[in-house]
Amino acid sequence: MPRRPTHHTFSPNPNTNTRTASKPLYVVLCRVSRQSSPSASWMGALAHHWSLRLHRPLNASGSAPYLGYEQSRPGPGISAGVLPKRRAGLDRFTHVKAMSVIPGRPGSELVAELPDPPSEDGSVLVEGLLAGICGTDAEILRGGGQPPPGGPRLVIGHESLGRVLEAPADAPVRPGDLVAGVVRRPDPVPCPACAAGRPDFCVNGRYTERGIKGLDGYGATRWRLSPRFAIAVPDQLGDLGVLTEPGSVVAKAWEQIDRLVLRAPAEPRPGRLALITGAGPIGMLAALLGRQRGYQVHVFDRVTAGPKPALVAALGATYHHGPAGTLEALDLCPDVALECTGAGQLVIELAGKLAPAGVMCLIGISSGRRRLPVDMSRVGASMVLGNSLVFGTVSAARRHYEQAVGALARADPAWLRGLISRRVPLSGWQQGLARQPGDVKVVVDLTQ
Ligand SMILES: [Zn+2]
Repeated sequence: MPRRPTHHTFSPNPNTNTRTASKPLYVVLCRVSRQSSPSASWMGALAHHWSLRLHRPLNASGSAPYLGYEQSRPGPGISAGVLPKRRAGLDRFTHVKAMSVIPGRPGSELVAELPDPPSEDGSVLVEGLLAGICGTDAEILRGGGQPPPGGPRLVIGHESLGRVLEAPADAPVRPGDLVAGVVRRPDPVPCPACAAGRPDFCVNGRYTERGIKGLDGYGATRWRLSPRFAIAVPDQLGDLGVLTEPGSVVAKAWEQIDRLVLRAPAEPRPGRLALITGAGPIGMLAALLGRQRGYQVHVFDRVTAGPKPALVAALGATYHHGPAGTLEALDLCPDVALECTGAGQLVIELAGKLAPAGVMCLIGISSGRRRLPVDMSRVGASMVLGNSLVFGTVSAARRHYEQAVGALARADPAWLRGLISRRVPLSGWQQGLARQPGDVKVVVDLTQ
């Protein structure tokens, strides 16, 4: 339980007044102006009026509370961040920049400037290179995420790629290696799944997730993580290693499908057909892993323009297009279906199309609230008579990240490069949130 904050007055000039008789949980400084502290060198760096506010609680060792600040009107340079309280830290800004949002507040996205990542985040220190943006990030702005305790802001970025700067000798990565981070952390209870090292199957919902739920993410120029959450990415993959996290979600889906199709006597894989709805990054990676398993792969999406049809064709898969509602007319009877859009209509249409003993995997979530008139008794009868199985899947365990790295390493690098359709610099990362025609995977270059 966080301790209750006690308020102290605090002069903007750290030389004259740092009166904090007891150890403060937070130091919050509000509406400080440059004029009120002309002699303070750290304030002199600010050319504007600032609202300073709580950003982050005292860390576990009780040693380094931070001041949070936010620019109260637009101007050049730093737009938000935190300052270390102690005298030495007040003289200069640290230079970790990060993709920061207030969950549930569209328009709050900005580049935050933060202190070095706290050592309690883990012993592996990483220079952030790339962060992938996905629908979850947009959903966080609409209210889907949760900031760490102590402040309203969350560093987003759960699709990571970085270069290891420091690592202990027994870590699975060495300094200089490319690395991606596992997203989900076990709940504190822990539940049986988390106790078994499978927080991706957490049953009490109290897990945390880097960049999504209760923990700052990897969308920063520096981050730390524990060795057990560090995934080594081979150098040959280079920037394509940023696809490791979305690949892990798909690897977990296929791992389950591989087991579930064995419920029934199965045809050899080359004869089996997989139908994937949604040609976004998840659908594309699902198609890749399906092809690597020898499935005949068909991909259905709305668009006819942009890179998606050619990317599907280059995999040796077949592209189909049309609005939801036209899938039913497709003359296909899939043994395996992967629904990657979250569109309710496609879920229903796919369920009715499955081959006998077919398996359908739901990966997509839609924020749409459209109500559909559905004859569930007909869908249910079709599933009963077909021995069909439908299951959902989310997140991934460490081994799925490793499977994803293997799948990416076996794929054609030119094809994978085609998935990364747009790069935006960290300084303007907000542009990556707005979908543009032709987008597949948008990544943020954390070095720019
Ligand atoms: Zn759990």
